Amino acid sequence: MSDHPNKLFLNGNSSEGRGSAPIPQTNPATEEIFCEVFAASEADVHEAVEGAQQAYLQAWRGLAPRQRADVLFSIARIIRENLETLAQLECENIGKPIGDARDEIGLGARVFEYYAGAISKFFGQTIPVARGGFDFTLRQPMGVVAAIVPWNFPFPIACWKVAPALAAGNTVVLKPASQSPLTAIRLGELAHRAGLPPGALQVIPGQGSAIGDALATHPLIRKVSFTGSTEIGSRIMGLAARDLKRVSLELGGKSPNIVFADADLEQAATSSPMSVFANTGQDCCARSRVFVERKVFDRFVELFVDATGKLLVDDPAKDSTQIGPLVSAGQRRVAEEFIEGARKAGRVVATGGERPFAKGFYLQPTVLLDVEPSDRVWQEEVFGPVVCIRPFDDEAQMLREVNDSRYGLSGSIWTNDLKRALRVSRQVESGVLSINSHSSVHVEAPFGGFKQSGLGRDLGMTAMEGYTELKNIYVAE
Ligand code: NAD
Repeated sequence: MSDHPNKLFLNGNSSEGRGSAPIPQTNPATEEIFCEVFAASEADVHEAVEGAQQAYLQAWRGLAPRQRADVLFSIARIIRENLETLAQLECENIGKPIGDARDEIGLGARVFEYYAGAISKFFGQTIPVARGGFDFTLRQPMGVVAAIVPWNFPFPIACWKVAPALAAGNTVVLKPASQSPLTAIRLGELAHRAGLPPGALQVIPGQGSAIGDALATHPLIRKVSFTGSTEIGSRIMGLAARDLKRVSLELGGKSPNIVFADADLEQAATSSPMSVFANTGQDCCARSRVFVERKVFDRFVELFVDATGKLLVDDPAKDSTQIGPLVSAGQRRVAEEFIEGARKAGRVVATGGERPFAKGFYLQPTVLLDVEPSDRVWQEEVFGPVVCIRPFDDEAQMLREVNDSRYGLSGSIWTNDLKRALRVSRQVESGVLSINSHSSVHVEAPFGGFKQSGLGRDLGMTAMEGYTELKNIYVAE
């Protein structure tokens, strides 16, 4: 295996593919191109899908559950053995702080372990149908699944899709984002070394605009599992509708962080900056709209701004770094445009808004005040280190503003009043919520969005259901 995995991984082998041009990979911390990755063409998509179909029919779906589980446990083990190399690749490829990268590779291994264990605990029902006899359900694999993943959490999100799909007996064609293909390619190589049959996990880096349509319309693809922007998710759903492919979509977010006056203010305020600035704000769950009860607003802002100023923005290769660069110059430009727009509208920049270093796509964590609900920065996903904080007086009015969003992915509620926490959590329109915490992702629990934040769920046993067809069988007595 080369230092930088830069080829497609097809049918158990590396391949240079037939894409029009290799994709340069830029280290966001240095702005230097450090390798080029071969790109897949539409012809490669066909080869990948056909190979995956062969692997599905001949090698994977018929394997005994125990054998399938053994392979998945081996993949988890080999990921852990290669944890440091994978983390270094992620750090160099997208500027992810190395500590976070190590955690995320470990998370990927845990996902494989969870679904390896799930294989023997995933069963159907027996149903007492009216006419007597014996009625039962089977969960059966679908066939070939296309997994299309983004660049912000490349490795764990790939594992969220690949592991349950394989566990359920499907095979997978994985398309990483063109900005972050390295750990996905390495995952293909490692899974093969761990005993996964050739073709069961195909990895095809490439531009979404060049090969996305071919994947979303290929007649042998039975399900498209997509994580990315709402716009591309909607396009994929439209294409997949032509032959009624199954789709699951994990899309954008503009998540609320609601702080009531009776909360542990110190804890809420000092933990909240990382709920939006972690991963340099490039997080679909980022709590980018903060609602604070007016009585404690000034104190909250003071604590929040102070904690933000203490975040260590630095070279992602250093163990101590909390905030690295954004993934690209373009991504930083988008965030800066939001900040410029807010400044022009007379909004207050309480801290941040500047580039801290001459080199690298860095941007200081930025706190905006006096923002109006109609402002673009309040309504749209920035996908950069920008947060808006607004006061509220009335719970009902605050909830109307919380739900006045096309998104509904995640959110936090801070209060020590249990009844209020439960009342408010019922009313917030989002797929994931945390009370007195900012934790959104648990391997064992469903993750996904309401409204335009998505369709279907990743993680937990719910995701496993999403990679199967449900069959009912009746036996006459
Ligand atoms: P994106 O939609 O541009 O790209 C996502 C993936 O889709 C990439 O692999 C990309 O190459 C591919 N793609 C692009 N055009 C395509 C096309 N026409 N057909 C098929 N595939 C195509 O999104 P991004 O910039 O990589 O990621 C950022 C977005 O992802 C944000 O909106 C973020 O909120 C969202 N996201 C959501 C979750 C979640 O779980 N809800 C998690 C992470 C990121």
